[in-house]
Amino acid sequence: MTATATPPVAPATPDLDAAALLAGLRATFATGRTRDLSWRKEQLRALRRMLAECEEDLLGALRIDLGKPAIEAFLTELAFVRAEIDVTLKHLDRWVRPERVGIPVKQRPGRGRIHRDPLGVVLIIGPWNYPVQLLLAPLVGAIAAGNCAVLKPSEVSATVSATLARLLPQYLDPAAIRLVEGAVDETTALLEQRWDHVFYTGNGAIGRVVMAAAAKHLTPVTLELGGKSPTYVDASANLGVAAKRIAWGKFLNSGQTCIAPDYVLVDRSVADAFVEELGAAVREFYGDDPQASPDFGRIINGRHFGRIAALVDGEGAGTPAFGGGRDEADRYMAPTALVGTDPAARVMQEEIFGPILPILPVGGVDEAITFINDRDKPLALYVFAESKRVVERVLAETSSGGVCVNATLYHLVPPTLPFGGVGESGQGAYHGRSTFETFSHRKSVLRKPTRLDPPIAYPPYTEQKQKLLRRFL
Ligand code: NAD
Repeated sequence: MTATATPPVAPATPDLDAAALLAGLRATFATGRTRDLSWRKEQLRALRRMLAECEEDLLGALRIDLGKPAIEAFLTELAFVRAEIDVTLKHLDRWVRPERVGIPVKQRPGRGRIHRDPLGVVLIIGPWNYPVQLLLAPLVGAIAAGNCAVLKPSEVSATVSATLARLLPQYLDPAAIRLVEGAVDETTALLEQRWDHVFYTGNGAIGRVVMAAAAKHLTPVTLELGGKSPTYVDASANLGVAAKRIAWGKFLNSGQTCIAPDYVLVDRSVADAFVEELGAAVREFYGDDPQASPDFGRIINGRHFGRIAALVDGEGAGTPAFGGGRDEADRYMAPTALVGTDPAARVMQEEIFGPILPILPVGGVDEAITFINDRDKPLALYVFAESKRVVERVLAETSSGGVCVNATLYHLVPPTLPFGGVGESGQGAYHGRSTFETFSHRKSVLRKPTRLDPPIAYPPYTEQKQKLLRRFL
């Protein structure tokens, strides 16, 4: 692949007046237009059309920002959002139907229903690593639930930000869905406003800023954060398959994936064999010189390049079992496995978010579980084992946003599985129906008939009434 210049920082939306922007969207919401089911479906179809008609623009922008191979960009960004749209369009009629719930006999007659109300005007703040998917997948649910929305793409993936800023208004209703480009100043100005929900994807430090700003207005938040996602390779694992699936999940997008395996804990008895298989998988995927491979991406910018390099060069980081090369001018960092890593090293304290994989031998599943539980609750956890007992123990004795057994990343794909973190890795979840639910208020509605109106429940509370009330309610 050819070297890509460091992309420029996305321009700020000129003269952003966040209060006026919000007021305009509130006025649209008040008309009821976004509640209309046909409007929602029309917007979703338009978004789908944009993905198809502007595929080249979007893939080109992803190539410039992240050096993403076209097929990977297509699958992990455009096709992902398209699948979310399809599943939503297919089920939306059912999702919006008031849900019947039973009423206890003592409280009858009455009919209980849960209605899904739109929240109002929501803010969606995206990161740079999957800048199309992570901005538009939440939008699918926001539209489906009948909301107005403001999108704030990451300024770091500047070409994608500019491309979406140009394309979205050509397809979506600009009175209801707006995109604001910019960085900290613009996001800060947006966060000062009273939104009905803030959906943020990014790192935990800014997650705290977002949550604190939202708290001023009691605005609910979804925080899709990151952290170190561990992988355990048991002695019973199919090592060849494990190595391939771990290498793929780690080195996709040059390791800049929120649920990339951050490090591997491998049973000591198979550690050498595993590292060998991993090296073979990397050679098979990217050849002897991954820099020349059209299928290997680039680090987003010089700042992140320096950050990852400092982790690798830090004390106790260990030595490369393979890889280790880098070329800053090309933002290229070789797929690298580190061995001899000290668990206290910085590379084991911070999320790596790059193509560097420390491999730490452990004595078995007990030690792996203790290691994982001694740290923050991860966004994803991977376990490779043929032993069912080992898998069940990991599932029962650890807590994480999600788990994938004998594979990496794939638990994010089925729209039936809610995707989100727990503890330090985030709160709230989305994908498929969960996205619709995230942007809906579950409004309880009880309908009572008037033909019966027994005086028992009203004052004066005579002794006889009290006896009956105690007995029946
Ligand atoms: P980023 O730097 O693009 O920041 C995310 C968003 O926050 C951007 O829109 C940015 O403009 C905004 N922002 C930055 N500084 C701000 C400030 N001071 N005040 C208000 N807003 C501000 O992206 P990032 O945080 O580097 O993204 C990488 C992180 O995101 C990793 O930790 C990764 O694990 C996590 N992530 C999580 C998921 C998930 O689905 N859970 C997905 C992708 C990435």
